[in-house]
Amino acid sequence: MIHDVATEAATMQREDEVVSTSPQRPDDVVLRVDAASPQQVGRAVDAARVAQREWASLPAAQRGAVLQRVALALAAQSETAAVLVVREVGKPIDEARAEVARAVAILDYFAQQALDPDGETLPSSDGRSLLMARRLPRGVVGLIAPWNFPLAIPTWKLAPALAFGNAVVLKPSPLSPACAEFLGGLLAAHLPHGVFSVVHGGATAGEALVGSVDAVSFTGSGATGRRVAALGFEAGIPVQAEMGGQNAAIVLPDAGVEAAARSIAGAAMGYAGQKCTATSRVVVVGDVAGFTDALCAAVEALRVGDPAEPGVAVGPVISGAAHEAVVSAVSAARGRGGRVVCGGAAGDDGPGHFVAPTLLDGLPASDDLNQREVFGPLATLLPASTIDAAVEIANGVAQGLVTSVYTADLALALSLPARLHCGLVRINAPSTGVDLHAPFGGERGSGIGPREQGKAARDFYTTLRTVTVAPPL
Ligand code: NAD
Repeated sequence: MIHDVATEAATMQREDEVVSTSPQRPDDVVLRVDAASPQQVGRAVDAARVAQREWASLPAAQRGAVLQRVALALAAQSETAAVLVVREVGKPIDEARAEVARAVAILDYFAQQALDPDGETLPSSDGRSLLMARRLPRGVVGLIAPWNFPLAIPTWKLAPALAFGNAVVLKPSPLSPACAEFLGGLLAAHLPHGVFSVVHGGATAGEALVGSVDAVSFTGSGATGRRVAALGFEAGIPVQAEMGGQNAAIVLPDAGVEAAARSIAGAAMGYAGQKCTATSRVVVVGDVAGFTDALCAAVEALRVGDPAEPGVAVGPVISGAAHEAVVSAVSAARGRGGRVVCGGAAGDDGPGHFVAPTLLDGLPASDDLNQREVFGPLATLLPASTIDAAVEIANGVAQGLVTSVYTADLALALSLPARLHCGLVRINAPSTGVDLHAPFGGERGSGIGPREQGKAARDFYTTLRTVTVAPPL
């Protein structure tokens, strides 16, 4: 069991170290590594600053070629990487393989993006001067990452950062240090010394990083993101913060019931609901009882168990603390009148941090469970009398990451993005996932700063320098 003495002894850690354990077998210590002191973070940034000048002076095609070689190296070790992701964060193997493939594709994509236009020329007012706006690297970029996509998220930050000539210091989550070390090893084999490094630790190392770099890209929870943004503002550096969601799926009366239910069940419960884009609220217009039955059947059809087994959709949650947070959120919601329509129990799949996928109804849209992100295999059902009421419920949270809509009426569907206050709208598609070459990010409480991924990434990882070259006087 997670709280027994043997497990605690195996995973005991000093304050200056990071220890990751496997969520499905908590006595399996994946990596024990020293946390970086603020001074060590400062030294990593200093080394990056020196290395960045030479890296930025390379032709863009050479930087792209390095990323291409890293992509090939990762592809060659893709199964090793996927198995490590399963072991360290409990991601089901099918999704872990997809995450590695995505990281390879991201590296390939930004290897090409390095060759995209790096600015524009403008007509000058005197008609004789050359007026240009040039995209130049920011310098040393600090990346602060969560544990839930331990390869893909660092990669979708580091690939554009490096492609456009920055040096990078990554501070991964203390829950996924081994995945970061794996990535760091691949990069170190291909990059000049100092251009990319990893510093481990929690808030202390993270805050030291924010205080010493030229820009910070953060992904994680809302509370931490707002703290990082405030620190970055104080330090006078650009900050990009991608944070949590409280995402709705709206089911309209003309939607295909079984297919919509399967799609929503996967989006809500896959990877134990631990995606920022997971569906947490299912807003049903029309036959609520009929859809509830279909959704329960789809949730119960998902395989829960050892994430190393192909076909398993729901593994454990990341930690004992996460397990406790999910179980207590369900029990508190029951106390407020919530009804568990399926699941609701702590899992009994061995010693890991398993929770049964759980659906609740009977809670108002304003209820705590419908307002905050719990980050577990939990979703609520909410009836709405009209489409307008459904949109109001979907928008009625502080977050604004993604909303799904299931309907056969494409004209209606196309009118909804303008009314939904979120960064991503997915019609007849699960809330989870979007193509890697499309801009990704949230609005309101879910995102601060420019979007990540796709061509939008250049906005954050470069600065614009306006240059006027007049003829010699
Ligand atoms: P978290 O906020 O606990 O930690 C994120 C990172 O911030 C970690 O590396 C952590 O060590 C670091 N950190 C903690 N305190 C800090 C501080 N004071 N200063 C600087 N760094 C600090 O988040 P988590 O539990 O690792 O990840 C889960 C959260 O991430 C969820 O809320 C999820 O929705 C969100 N998420 C968002 C996206 C997105 O793109 N919008 C993607 C994945 C995950």
